[in-house]
Amino acid sequence: MTSKLSKHPHISSDLLNQWQTIMDILSVIMDVPIALIMRYQTAHFSVYVKNDDQGNPFDIGEIVENGTGSYCESVINDDNPILIPNALLDEKWVNAPEIEMGLINYLGFPLRWPNGDAFGTICILNTEAVSYSEKQQQLMLQIKNIVESNLELLEKNQQLEVLSNNLQYLANTDDLTGIWNRRAFIHESNKELQRTMRSNHNTCLLMMDIDDFKVINDAFGHEVGDEVLKLFSHSIQAAKRPYDVFGRIGGEEFAVLLPETTLKQAMLLAERLRKKVAAIFYYTGGNDISITVSIGAYELKDDETNILVALNKADKLLYAAKHAGKNTVMAEAL
Ligand code: GH3
Ligand code: MG
Ligand code: MG
Repeated sequence: MTSKLSKHPHISSDLLNQWQTIMDILSVIMDVPIALIMRYQTAHFSVYVKNDDQGNPFDIGEIVENGTGSYCESVINDDNPILIPNALLDEKWVNAPEIEMGLINYLGFPLRWPNGDAFGTICILNTEAVSYSEKQQQLMLQIKNIVESNLELLEKNQQLEVLSNNLQYLANTDDLTGIWNRRAFIHESNKELQRTMRSNHNTCLLMMDIDDFKVINDAFGHEVGDEVLKLFSHSIQAAKRPYDVFGRIGGEEFAVLLPETTLKQAMLLAERLRKKVAAIFYYTGGNDISITVSIGAYELKDDETNILVALNKADKLLYAAKHAGKNTVMAEAL
């Protein structure tokens, strides 16, 4: 994971404010007019954080091009701190853009992301040739370390967030079909019921169970059964509206919560789904496998906010559909 192209986390405004305070303190402790965090990009540096001092001529966002032989560029290229007591006394810096600004004195450290990618530099600049004590230089090194630990923490948080999202996905989805599992279906449906209760709209629930599924497993094997379950689930997934909640309740039982739907509309939809399922053909090993589904369609009462109660009611209607000969939609009398 140490690719140079890796995407690094965004620096929050809270952290920027902390760094701002650090730069203010740094300029006072080192007794310099300019303390900067410079951000390194491929083509240039830009002023990222600066101490809040009238003697600092730099503006946030101001750009120093690469290839101009600036002090900060040398820090990044050498990957080492650079102390320049007086740039006028060293031919190396004769073309440095900072000299034009009268900034002849410099102390800068590289800042790196945990994987080694350059973040930029932390530096102080002065118009006078001054020297810095051992203690002062150590202090600045400590500050550089703090900024780099901030970067490390940001990366760790980003990694944790990705892990946590992955875990949540795994905990909520059904392995076979990729739709909500029972637990997540209940959670999402209850959330939706809380919402619709406030808006006072009709809500319906479809409970579906594939007919004689055991026969398919027995005749063609469990793997074929699995493929048929996937086909079934994809077929419903493609037919439902984006805000309908679709989940696998268990085995070959599925449920769809239909917000803002009257019982009449739910029955029409259920009938459409029943026909769609009956049209599924899975061809394997020389066999054409087809399935049918029985559906219980239940309209929730206004005060029903617990999906488990509704699932129970819809299940009774589903049972009635099975009893009536399967491949049927059953609803309470309108
Ligand atoms: P009915 O029409 O009354 O619903 O009959 P049925 O055979 O569908 O119902 P039954 O409850 O007797 O059997 C359900 C079958 O579903 C038995 C079980 O092995 C199978 N099943 C449950 N989960 C899975 C699965 O994940 N994969 C496969 N292949 N089969 C499964
Ligand atoms: Mg069943
Ligand atoms: Mg069944």
